[in-house]
Amino acid sequence: MVAIRRHGGDERAARALFERFAAAHPCPAERLRRPALRLCRRRAGGTVYRAGAQLHRGAWRARAAGHAGTRTVGEGRVDGVLLADGARLRADVVVSALPPMALAPLLDRDRQRAAALPALDWFEPSPYICCYLWFDRDIKAERFTSHLWSPERLNYDFYELGQIRHGWAGRPSVIASNIIYSHRAAHMDDDAIVAATVRELAEFAPDAASAKLLHARVHRVPMAIPCPLVGFEERRPAQRTPLPGLVLAGDWTQTRMPCTMEGAVKSGFLAAEVVLADLGRPETLAIEARLYDGLAGVVRRVAAGRPRGCP
Ligand SMILES: Cc1cc2nc3c(=O)[nH]c(=O)nc-3n(C[C@H](O)[C@H](O)[C@H](O)COP(=O)(O)OP(=O)(O)OC[C@H]3O[C@@H](n4cnc5c(N)ncnc54)[C@H](O)[C@@H]3O)c2cc1C
Repeated sequence: MVAIRRHGGDERAARALFERFAAAHPCPAERLRRPALRLCRRRAGGTVYRAGAQLHRGAWRARAAGHAGTRTVGEGRVDGVLLADGARLRADVVVSALPPMALAPLLDRDRQRAAALPALDWFEPSPYICCYLWFDRDIKAERFTSHLWSPERLNYDFYELGQIRHGWAGRPSVIASNIIYSHRAAHMDDDAIVAATVRELAEFAPDAASAKLLHARVHRVPMAIPCPLVGFEERRPAQRTPLPGLVLAGDWTQTRMPCTMEGAVKSGFLAAEVVLADLGRPETLAIEARLYDGLAGVVRRVAAGRPRGCP
């Protein structure tokens, strides 16, 4: 929007463009999660477990107590993880699947971050507010609906969970929706958010306005994904880090995909490739991304023919 205005476009032109192209995150999680996990289990299970990995289920406590960290020996080699309960997991390779904001303070403890991964501080969380609404009847919403972009709206994507969750067909409507990059709603209390969400829902499922709302939940998620700001792509780190012994995974690492569940899965395959290569058993696990096809491909081809800085 700012760029359009800067180049002389008026408010109407900017809105028209965004309404057509900026349907926020039109990607129902429920449809993607299961196939992605199945694929992950099938492909990674055979490789990583064969290589002798162990699963430590208690590791999550590291975050709760905030004492976790990576451990370095010798000339800055990462050789394990410190857990919250003081336990040390020694490892030839540590694969971190933490988001950048969670990884940064852990590396700080060993003064590794500034030296090896300076971009960690650059990433900015995109917070979400997720609303769940239980109605007393079927409000006849579609399985998935996305509103067009508008500066006034809170929610874009809406899911009718009765048509998504197994065994929920025929139940009164249960709606999930997302307020993406939710700073504009941060000051609102839950009641105000629920009221706005019902209003926005009624724009495409009018029965929502007259149905009785039996129950509502508002979840405030501090970071759904790192913000895909300008400069994001060039700052995404490769899975192989400059720190010997530390390999990165996570949607925010360089996958040539947006920050998504599929991107996170791909980052895991790429991390496994680094580990296997260092073990002298190189293998290709990740599927290469199709780059710049469709509209993006046309724009890129046109842009490639122009000198830098040319409008
Ligand atoms: C509401 C919502 C809706 C979304 N919708 C979609 C969608 O429709 N489609 C899509 O593709 N993506 C969607 N996403 C984004 C998607 O969930 C992420 O891209 C994906 O989960 C990233 O995976 P990850 O493994 O990189 O990170 P995460 O899934 O965030 O995993 C990081 C893990 O690290 C753990 N952790 C953090 N700190 C520590 C610590 N110190 N010690 C131990 N553990 C720690 C966390 O608990 C977490 O389990 C959505 C996200 C949200 C929140």
